[in-house]
Amino acid sequence: MVMKGTPITEELFDYIVDTFAREDDLLRTMPAEAHRRGVPMIHISPEQGKFLQVLMNAAGVRKALEIGSLFGYSTIWMARALPADGKLISLEVNPLHVQLTSENVKRAGLAEQVEVRQGKALDLLASLDAEAPFDLAFLDAVKDEYVAYLDQVLRLVRPGGLIIGDNASANGEVWQSAPSGNGSYIRALRAFNHRMATDPRLTSLLVPISDGMCVGVVKRG
Ligand code: MG
Repeated sequence: MVMKGTPITEELFDYIVDTFAREDDLLRTMPAEAHRRGVPMIHISPEQGKFLQVLMNAAGVRKALEIGSLFGYSTIWMARALPADGKLISLEVNPLHVQLTSENVKRAGLAEQVEVRQGKALDLLASLDAEAPFDLAFLDAVKDEYVAYLDQVLRLVRPGGLIIGDNASANGEVWQSAPSGNGSYIRALRAFNHRMATDPRLTSLLVPISDGMCVGVVKRG
């Protein structure tokens, strides 16, 4: 296939973020503070946050699930797209990350909507049935576990809801059969993308935004 379309450049990226996805003071200052406290800078980018909000509004998301809070950056973007009585449950294994996310959610005035749960995602997912159905699941935690997360969230997300996996491009190496980078990381994302692309319950596409977001809609009926 010949690639069509407009390649992303720094200038185009700046235009998109400036026009559609500006951070407020809280979102702008959160990463540096988290970095000072030892958190790796692997949070989503602003245009991804806005893309999540667009998708959430399109799907009428009232109850969302996040797997991997980090320090709450994506959590806050998503929670801001919820209605006042909406709910976001964010799962996070690292106690420092749980603490930072809780602090940031409080600073954002979203403590009513957001609940951060500490524990291994696969353990917590197994016991979420009583709180299902969810309208959206955003996967951004352990890549080796993405396929297992997908098996769980396919049970928890309603028809018409969204399942979204971050880092689906694997640093741009997802297509490589003999990658130079971390082989197991790339293999895990290839396996996840393959499942998203072929599972008959989903309509999906890898959207090349930032490090790639694989977006799937759970088919209705
Ligand atoms: Mg990510």
